[in-house]
Amino acid sequence: MKQKFVISLILLSLQVTMSFSQRTTTFTERELEIIGHETGESVFRILQTTDPVDSLILRMPSTDMADPDSIADDKNLQLLIERLRITMEQAGGVGIAAPQVGVLKNVFLFMRVDLPGKPLQVVINPRMVAHSAETVCFERDGCLSIPDTSGNSIRYPWIEVEFWDEKGDFHRERLEGYQRGDNFAAVIFQHEFDHLQGIFFTDKNCLLEEEIWK
Ligand SMILES: [Zn+2]
Repeated sequence: MKQKFVISLILLSLQVTMSFSQRTTTFTERELEIIGHETGESVFRILQTTDPVDSLILRMPSTDMADPDSIADDKNLQLLIERLRITMEQAGGVGIAAPQVGVLKNVFLFMRVDLPGKPLQVVINPRMVAHSAETVCFERDGCLSIPDTSGNSIRYPWIEVEFWDEKGDFHRERLEGYQRGDNFAAVIFQHEFDHLQGIFFTDKNCLLEEEIWK
């Protein structure tokens, strides 16, 4: 009886510790250095798969931002987002994920090529809640972290996603589009979402029909 009580006490304290640490999970010291104090510059260095250490970091899974309610007030997160925006624009990309600059958090930015004016979308703690049964072979995918490489990647033509934006507003929406040069919003989302799990487009290579029997 006493043993049972002790075990349940241990379990309870473990639970309390775990929920406490989940609530307070935030940027590591190294991540804070990258975000705020590195050189005072606004453009991040984008990690490259050609660098041995960078390539290991790029393969690591990221974790959720602790508390969606505090997104708008999190100065470090807001600075990360602002600097990611500048970095992506300077690199001429249509998307960038936090792990690409060494911050292993579930945060990415992408261009809403499906909306008028192609505004920038900030995505925090995303989930893919549904997707098409079929897949398509998307032409000429590319990545800011994989220099001089382009290739086709297997993608879902539509996905249903949930995420928070930089103001802390919750979104649930269906993204469509896999035509390069037109709307390929669903593909960009999947590409950036993969980065949060350490997955590259080169892991999803495919052949277009006309390439198969060449
Ligand atoms: Zn990429």
